[in-house]
Amino acid sequence: MNIDIKIPREYKKYTPKVLNELTKNGYFDDVDEIKNKSHILENKIKEEFIIKKTEVIGQWMSGGADSSILAYMLCKKIKEENLNIKFQPLSVRRGRGWNPIYAGHVIDFIEDELDFKMNDHIVYYPDINDEYQRETKEFRDRDMENFNTGKIDILYSGITCNPPEDDVTISKNKERTRDESAERPLESWSGFAYYINPFFKINKKDIKKLYDKYKLTHTLFPITRSCEGSDYETGNYTFHCGKCWWCEERLWAFGFLDQPAQEFIYD
Ligand SMILES: [Zn+2]
Repeated sequence: MNIDIKIPREYKKYTPKVLNELTKNGYFDDVDEIKNKSHILENKIKEEFIIKKTEVIGQWMSGGADSSILAYMLCKKIKEENLNIKFQPLSVRRGRGWNPIYAGHVIDFIEDELDFKMNDHIVYYPDINDEYQRETKEFRDRDMENFNTGKIDILYSGITCNPPEDDVTISKNKERTRDESAERPLESWSGFAYYINPFFKINKKDIKKLYDKYKLTHTLFPITRSCEGSDYETGNYTFHCGKCWWCEERLWAFGFLDQPAQEFIYD
């Protein structure tokens, strides 16, 4: 399984002056439109770019299997290629507050495994009573802020695609935007924001192959968490419910949810 994870060493960004003007004119006020808007802007302003060296790459980490293996691969690449680039893990405490905690475990594991130091984990705490803010808008708000302030140069996501349409062994996820056929760019660049989504065209079974390739199926995978079950179905978020779609997908791809096979010996 060869997935090319690319880390550009430099990229073009609008000059601070252009960014200021755009901000003043309210171009970035509607954060929901951030990606679309930045493409429009790209056509409007052609000249005023600076070449910026990539210093920090960021990634939203949910503690799930997909974002965890991507973080591992990125950190491994930085280390092996001796790149002068920092890795910034980011998480949001969502409605079920376990994401940052599981992401924290994953970060500790990767740092130990690779003998690699990430930047300190940043966790955002939006209003827990505001569902739209905590599940959706918080991510975009913080993206805007982090691209604007230069805290990150490139933002990666570990989002995968749904299982193949014709696979009858798993039910359909409700997020149609994750379908194999959905038009989603692996890379989206504008003078303002730069996103790379290396897993947009691969599904959870491909993710399993990556875990196998790096011999992490019985070490890292079991400490990740994808479940959206409720507190009473999951022992207050300590184990997988085995019933929600995300558990179903995990079983479909890996054959088990989270029980580490202690006796497993790699050949
Ligand atoms: Zn579940």
